[in-house]
Amino acid sequence: MTGSQGQLDPARIEGWHAHVYFDPGTRPRAERLRAAIAGRYGDAVTLGRWRETPVGPHSKAMYQVAFPGSLFAEFLPWLMANRQGLDVLVHARSGLSDLVDHTEGALWLGRSLPLDLTPFEGAGESPAASGQG
Ligand code: ZN
Repeated sequence: MTGSQGQLDPARIEGWHAHVYFDPGTRPRAERLRAAIAGRYGDAVTLGRWRETPVGPHSKAMYQVAFPGSLFAEFLPWLMANRQGLDVLVHARSGLSDLVDHTEGALWLGRSLPLDLTPFEGAGESPAASGQG
């Protein structure tokens, strides 16, 4: 491991985000996936609002799904099987920094899309710095 932001400690992960990316052509699929998530997981997950334009580190429109570690082993394979070809970033909420969350703590379903990490670099320890990461 490299970097000075601190190392990811799996035991201290506070939860997870899944960011579901879409564009005008794939939005209907994103809508179906969102409805399926809401129908299956209800209040066990927290669905963020539709972000129709890129925001934060994200390079495409997306919505966020926040879920607890206790749901990881159930939700991740389900999402893998039901993402309908959409690209999804899953990242830890490490409690260390947004940079760690979106680098060491990131995994992708589908294609890996660019992330603009420049706002996070040099930000140091700022776990609560962003509402959109
Ligand atoms: Zn996030």
